[in-house]
Amino acid sequence: MSIIPEERLNDLTNDEIGRYSRHLLLPEIGVDGQKRLKAAKVLLIGTGGLGAPLALYLAAAGVGTLGIVDFDVVEASNLQRQIIHSTRDIDRPKVASARDKIKGLNPNVTVKEYNTALTSENAFDIIKDYDIVADGTDNYQTRYLVNDACVLLGKPNVYGSVFQFEGQASVFYAGKGPCYRCLYPSPPPPGLVPSCSEGGVMGVLPGIVGTIQAAEVIKLIVGGDKGLIGRLLLFDAWTMKFRELKLAHDENCPICGKNPTIHELIDYEQFCGLKKNTAEKPIETITALELKARLDSGEKIQLIDTREPHERAIVKFPNAKAIPLGQLERRIDEIDPTIDTVFICKIGQRSIFAIKALEEAGYKGRMLNLQDGLNAWARDVDKSLPQY
Ligand SMILES: [Zn+2]
Repeated sequence: MSIIPEERLNDLTNDEIGRYSRHLLLPEIGVDGQKRLKAAKVLLIGTGGLGAPLALYLAAAGVGTLGIVDFDVVEASNLQRQIIHSTRDIDRPKVASARDKIKGLNPNVTVKEYNTALTSENAFDIIKDYDIVADGTDNYQTRYLVNDACVLLGKPNVYGSVFQFEGQASVFYAGKGPCYRCLYPSPPPPGLVPSCSEGGVMGVLPGIVGTIQAAEVIKLIVGGDKGLIGRLLLFDAWTMKFRELKLAHDENCPICGKNPTIHELIDYEQFCGLKKNTAEKPIETITALELKARLDSGEKIQLIDTREPHERAIVKFPNAKAIPLGQLERRIDEIDPTIDTVFICKIGQRSIFAIKALEEAGYKGRMLNLQDGLNAWARDVDKSLPQY
């Protein structure tokens, strides 16, 4: 069953018949399926690693309207995988760069740009006019927001995620199968699962997973019934293996279960533990410029680089002692509690965990977190160092 109703279908032009000939030859798609693609409105959340192949293949396939939501600008470090953007697009809004590529590939596509973050305030407004949402986000708060908005609006949510060499994909469609919350009722504690910007990702991986999402979107539109509803596809690009898990609808799911407790969009930052807990002891921070000034004044400060050896091979922090995060508690005696200690990582996230871990282990010295990590040092103090 296609989710595009009959009354929205329009005839194909001769140009369209030529362009989509290889689809028209497939009985599973055919003229009827191609008309449904033409009538379909698909919203892509994110035009990054997953959004890039999604946007390109859906545009090529003749999806009539593509909405693209992204608040980011293109950075050089995106280009290793986000193939919808080009080197000359660096510093441009991602939605503008994506629109140009989509229009270049297929001028028949209507592109709607949303140069904004998806939030609890705007999600319903943006999503409500679309038939399908494809989630290409890279963070838990947006993923839960997309899920909840789709469940509450009754839209299918074509999900994908990637990390390092591993990806997953599914189709969440409340009423026909489980939702994201049925699979993951609560998010992991903040920082426990590193993001791709900290943990890395093989460039082709989002290409593979995003293309799987695009295939699922197309099948929902043309009426394929062998899709990923109720199945979680797991892919490992290093071992080149696919596995799959059967997903059951959870009747106790707080949003799509029998007695739901969530009836509207919530505060997802808070839900994901990203808001500061006022009861918790605040962590002292130091900026790169402040640290430079204190070091220049001759003050004795200990610098601890909490990154892994393979990351230190990218760029070293001058005069820092290397103790990877996982070894800190065991090597606590190597840190002198009588002088101030600054903890360093790539972007100032893992170093917060280093400080928390040492606090729990009973370390009594003063600890400071280098704000925005080594990248801030390279940006503000020593411009000869690379940012990564
Ligand atoms: Zn659910």
